[in-house]
Order: sequence, then structure tokens, then C-alpha cells
Amino acid sequence: MSDLLPVDDAIGRIVAGVEPLGVETVALDDAAGRVLAAPLTARRTQPPFDASAMDGYAVRAADVATVPVTLTVIGMSAAGRGFAGAVGPGQAVRIFTGAPLPAGADAILIQENAVADGDTVVAQEPLTAGRHVRPAGYDFRSGAVLFDAGRRLAMRQLGLAASMGFGALAVRRRPRVAILSTGDELVPPGADPGPDQIVASNAVAVAAYVGSLGGEATDLGIVRDDVGAIAAAVDAAVALPADVLVTIGGASVGDHDLVHRALVDRGMTLGFWRIAMRPGKPLMFGRIPRTAGGMPPEMRVLGLPGNPASSAVCAIVFLGPLIDALLGLPASDRSEPAMLGADVAENGVRQDYQRATLAMGDDGRRVATPLSSQDSGMLSSLAAADCLIVRPPHAPAARAGDPCRILRLP
Ligand code: AMP
Ligand code: MG
Repeated sequence: MSDLLPVDDAIGRIVAGVEPLGVETVALDDAAGRVLAAPLTARRTQPPFDASAMDGYAVRAADVATVPVTLTVIGMSAAGRGFAGAVGPGQAVRIFTGAPLPAGADAILIQENAVADGDTVVAQEPLTAGRHVRPAGYDFRSGAVLFDAGRRLAMRQLGLAASMGFGALAVRRRPRVAILSTGDELVPPGADPGPDQIVASNAVAVAAYVGSLGGEATDLGIVRDDVGAIAAAVDAAVALPADVLVTIGGASVGDHDLVHRALVDRGMTLGFWRIAMRPGKPLMFGRIPRTAGGMPPEMRVLGLPGNPASSAVCAIVFLGPLIDALLGLPASDRSEPAMLGADVAENGVRQDYQRATLAMGDDGRRVATPLSSQDSGMLSSLAAADCLIVRPPHAPAARAGDPCRILRLP
């Protein structure tokens, strides 16, 4: 068992020396899920002028210190069409949310506290200066650095970036992952398996995961269990402008190491291929010379085990950090604290990833309860799980209520 590599060492070796991918400029519309390549500095101030936060009347607070008081309405300020004049003593301007505060005014009398009558209005609420006014720069000012590089962009960041004055952003190129499934027994999703056949379910799952991280997956299809056939598929893969080749299946000794042999035949330098983890012991990593131009001379290869739950867990544990590294994201411990919802036994030599549900305990802490089935061939329990409980090698037996670490499932 001593030839089994610890998970963290394996991740470290996979991401060692990874250079972040090049930078491209994309429209905001296409930037969701992408990773910012440079810090973002506001190009404008928001709001650019003192603005009303409510519908009502722009007034001078000093005029309405005591109420009721009658003011003369001298005009209107609407969003996009401000009032050109100034508000003098005893005067007010009808105003709407988002409209510029006219010169001279310093507070908003909300319409719920005003009684309008022709060109006068009676204020019924005393006001102090600044009431219901959003001052210029209240959200942010031009020149403020609101994002660091290396941030994944989602709805909130994109809305802010637009408000900061950007129509396009510099982001990392999408990591390209080529996926090759191996197995005589496999048919593509949607096809009817013949006798002794099953549906190849792993590639579509891994591809979806790659997409969710901002990468781009290419499915190279299914190749039969034959070293020559696999080697030919590898030749096609290394001619692609892909950053990573993921193979699925054929990685265990029981499968006669077919993928390993084909890759070595094509010049792969093996990094490792036995990990101290469950599920997923036969995980392979190496580098293979590529033939595609304009790319680094070697392509990283990750050989995932064929068992569906192993393949998915290994993708999350190993491919996720590799994609993040290609995107220039800092390495991070993605695990989170939680509390066990059931007793767990002492762990052996392999780091254990137990499928579990996640619920909120009475004390507000998250409770992770292992599912009864942890079989590496079983996808239904993986789909039913919310997280993986991570049990380090040789972790002692633990009781319900004890702290644990979890990895949320995507
Ligand atoms: P292997 O790693 O090729 O020895 O496969 C281990 C188990 O996973 C076997 O039961 C295979 O039938 C199954 N398997 C291999 N590849 C896939 C795949 N792409 N999708 C679903 N199951 C697979
Ligand atoms: Mg196989």
C-alpha cells in the first residue's frame, strides 16, 4: 500500500508548473463563468450625480424643519431628464427615483408624506439634509479597484462591471479538455445497449463539470479495448489544441492497463497512477508530447477510473484544481467544516470520500450524513448526495455530532 500517493501530493504534482492560459477580450454577454485576467478599475462614478432614491419632491431641508409647511412646485426632475434650474427658499421640484437632485435642494420629501394641490405641495414630515438622497459616488468612485484578477464572473460581478463602465472584459482563455472513453461494453448516451453493453455515462458528466468551471470539453467518443485503437485515438487527441486529455476507464490492472500502455507507447511520461483514496484508486497522471502547433510541447493527461462514481469524484478532486490552475485561480482548500450526522468507522490507509446529504442542525451548523450506499459503480447515490465527507487516512472512528470536513458537490 506504500506505493499509494496521498491525494494532496497528487494534486500538487498535477498542478505543478501550470502556466495560466492566455488572455482574450469578451463582451459582457459572453463573460459569465469566465475568469477575470486583470484587476478591474472603475471607469466612472456611480451614481454620477446626487440622485433621488424615492418618488416625491426635492426640497431644502431647512424649509421643512417644522411642518406642515407649504412649498411652491417649480418644475420636475425625472430619470434621464433633470431639472435645469435651482430650488430656492420655499420652493420644491417634483422628482422621481433615479432623477438628479436639482441645485439648491438637499433632501427628498417622499410623496407619501406630501399633499399636492395645484402648483403647491404641503410637507407633512420634517426632513434633515440628505434624506432619501443617494450622493454621487455612493456606490463607487472612478478609479476604485473593485475586482482583483483571478475572479470567476457571475451575475453579480457582471452587473457591477457594466455599471463600472465596461462593455467587454479581459478574461482567461477557456481551458480545453478532450475526453476519451474506453471500453468494449460502452455505447453513447441515448443509444440502445446491446447484450452485455452499458451506456457510457462518464464523459457527459465530466464535460458538464468542465463547462461549469469555465472550460470547454471536446468529446472524442468511445474507443474499444485495444492498445492500437487507443493509441490512434491518443494521436488524434495530441493533435488537438487541447490543454488536457482526460481518458476514462481501462486504467486498472484488471483491465490489463490498456490506456497506460497506449499512452506510454505514444511517449507519455508517467507521473503516478495509484492514489490513496476511495473511490478512485487507479487514477493516472502523466504528460504526453503534443503535435498541435502554438501550444506548449506537452499535454497533461488525466486517466480517470471507469466506475462512474469514481470517475466523477476523481474529476472533482483532481481535474477541478487543474482547470482552476489553468485559469490562473489560486490553489485553495475547497473543503468546508460540518458536523457528522451519523457515526463513522475508523478509516484505513486511503482518504475516503463518502457521499452524504447536507442539512441544517438545530444549532445552525451543517450536518453531513453519509448515504447508506457508497459503491463506486453507483450513480444514483452520487446524484442523491449534496456533498462528500472527506475522511483522511487513518482517521479514528467518529460519532454523530463530531466535526468533519466536506466537499460540496457541483
Ligand atoms: P474500467 O476502469 O475500464 O476497468 O471500468 C470499470 C467499470 O466502469 C466497469 O464496470 C465499466 O463498465 C465501467 N465504465 C467504464 N467506462 C465507463 C463509462 N465511460 N461510463 C460508464 N461506465 C463506465
Ligand atoms: Mg474498461
